[in-house]
Amino acid sequence: MPSTKSYAAQSATSPLAAWTIERRSPKPHDVQIDILYCGVCHSDLHFARNDWGMSMYPVVPGHEIVGKVTAVGAHVKKFKVGDIAGIGCLVDSCRECDNCKEGLEQYCAEGAVFSYNGMERDGSGVTYGGYSKNIVCHEDFVLHIDASQPLEAVAPLLCAGITTYSPLRHWKVGPGQKVGILGLGGLGHMAVKLAVSMGAEVTMLSHTASKAADAKRLGAHKFVLTTDEAQAKSVSNYFDFILDTVSAAHDYNFYLGMLRTSGTMVCVGVPPPAPPIAAFNLIFQRRSLAGSLIGGLPETQEMLDYCAKHQIVSDVEVIAMRDINEAYERMLKGDVRYRFVIDMATL
Ligand code: NAP
Ligand code: ZN
Ligand code: ZN
Repeated sequence: MPSTKSYAAQSATSPLAAWTIERRSPKPHDVQIDILYCGVCHSDLHFARNDWGMSMYPVVPGHEIVGKVTAVGAHVKKFKVGDIAGIGCLVDSCRECDNCKEGLEQYCAEGAVFSYNGMERDGSGVTYGGYSKNIVCHEDFVLHIDASQPLEAVAPLLCAGITTYSPLRHWKVGPGQKVGILGLGGLGHMAVKLAVSMGAEVTMLSHTASKAADAKRLGAHKFVLTTDEAQAKSVSNYFDFILDTVSAAHDYNFYLGMLRTSGTMVCVGVPPPAPPIAAFNLIFQRRSLAGSLIGGLPETQEMLDYCAKHQIVSDVEVIAMRDINEAYERMLKGDVRYRFVIDMATL
């Protein structure tokens, strides 16, 4: 059981700090990866601070992992030593339920095992994520990465990329549709790039005026400052589809009013307290409110291949491991342009 350097939150109120974890030695189907880069998702912060009341301390966050394969078990077929590989939010599932068989492991009937703050199916304990030197994972949950791309900018695809790609695909976003992306952060900026690449008319819905130029640079056709009454009114009953990536408490009803008849708003952002929904807002224009959780393994590989083909990566600010607590504070203020990524050589 090799010791591995990591960064962990020991409680909801303690800053992240160095800590040593034990990783298992690779089993016959396992891949061992030296982590090069790990993206910083707002979910990492939610878990580190127990925003959802389900954190199991110590928490080693991180589920946007890219690294180099350093060892493989005897039965591993898909990877060899030296390959560049990725791990996202999932490290295991039952593989036998209908959802797993369909490649929807994130909705596993027995509960998917998440990369951190999850329980290993063999009872060996809690999972630890990518704020660490290395990770060991069954090959079925490891993804192929096109090594010709800048790896630090690929890492965020493993969560921010797939979390936005999956609902855009599921709700068949494409040419002729008016799409609103709510919140320009890590998820939001990937959603803009992806929805534009799929041919939709894309409007950035943001509460930060200074992000207007960036939204256009990312490809958005329009920018609406949601705190400006006239601008918000200009898109009432307007969108076919809204993807809500906002991490803080906000009024869903306000944004539901921006959907046209039969439009759908999909929540991927997970604000701590759930705001009440007015049924009237749904009934009168036959609107739908839905949710979506990351994506399964086949779709995550499809997304990585799609992004490689279309030259889509994340806009990143690379940080050192020791800067993680400051990065969390900046993320809380919406001051991310547009994803922090930890250079693991600094751990
Ligand atoms: P992020 O980078 O911090 O971006 C969140 C954005 O929300 C901010 O940039 C800001 O955009 C907007 N925002 C913040 N406070 C707001 C407020 N009070 N009112 C309106 N807008 C506000 O976070 P992220 O990493 O993209 O994650 C976003 C959320 O998705 C988190 O809750 C995370 O846990 C969740 N998540 C869900 C899944 C899933 O599978 N469903 C996967 C990953 C993450 P503007 O400045 O443009 O308004
Ligand atoms: Zn995430
Ligand atoms: Zn299953």
